[in-house]
Amino acid sequence: MEIHFRGKQCVAIVLAAGRGTRMNSDIPKQYLPVKGKPVLYYALKAFQESFIDRIVLVTSLEDVEYCKKNMVEHFGFHKVSDVVAGGKERYHSVWKGLQAAGECDYIFIHDGARPFVTEEILKRAYDSVSEHDACVVGMPVKDTIKIADENGFADSTPKRDHVWMIQTPQVFTGRLIYDAYKTLIEKEKEILRRGIRITDDAMVVETFTDRKVKLVEGSYENIKITTPEDLQVAESFLARIYSD
Ligand code: C5P
Repeated sequence: MEIHFRGKQCVAIVLAAGRGTRMNSDIPKQYLPVKGKPVLYYALKAFQESFIDRIVLVTSLEDVEYCKKNMVEHFGFHKVSDVVAGGKERYHSVWKGLQAAGECDYIFIHDGARPFVTEEILKRAYDSVSEHDACVVGMPVKDTIKIADENGFADSTPKRDHVWMIQTPQVFTGRLIYDAYKTLIEKEKEILRRGIRITDDAMVVETFTDRKVKLVEGSYENIKITTPEDLQVAESFLARIYSD
């Protein structure tokens, strides 16, 4: 009999199907090396060593075989049950991942380009999703945020203690997130016509369900590798982690 963390089956969807044009590199950011290993390795390692039962890895179609061999087999990530091809936008990739994940209690959706997710963050998210059915990891902003108008002038200033920067994992009950994404895919044309750009999973739940999404503390180190300077920051975090 399988023993699940506190009796619940948890599946992670790790997204690595983006091309990452802001990195100015031919190699997608999730495969660039940091301390000798691809960025994606660190997120997979965190899930592999955690209470998560199973991992669905989403890559671009041409990288499916490469990832099976060079990520899953090479590093022995035996919790990866499926490597599936993603889609054009992040939300297409999530939808592919959800279909491969099948039924489970909780789904943890994570950007493969965020190497610094930790077991503590996963546990905080687990506790929150158990209570609220939907939560996303993030941190309160440190800087003042301005909403700009279309001409690049400051339009308004939201209260700083109400503004969070959102990270991943974003965690939901399996049924809630599957149904929300199913509705998004059915209504995709209408959403595009209205100029709405879906940039995270919480937005899908906010838009298509009446469920509120709880914000949970992640960490200021849980960065997404997006531009070349992020790689240098990641190197310095890893140098510290491995010297502790
Ligand atoms: O592009 P962005 O930085 O928002 O990507 C966040 C994560 O989503 C990355 O890990 C990227 O690989 C993934 N992604 C994806 N499929 C896409 C676009 C992005 O899996 N079509």
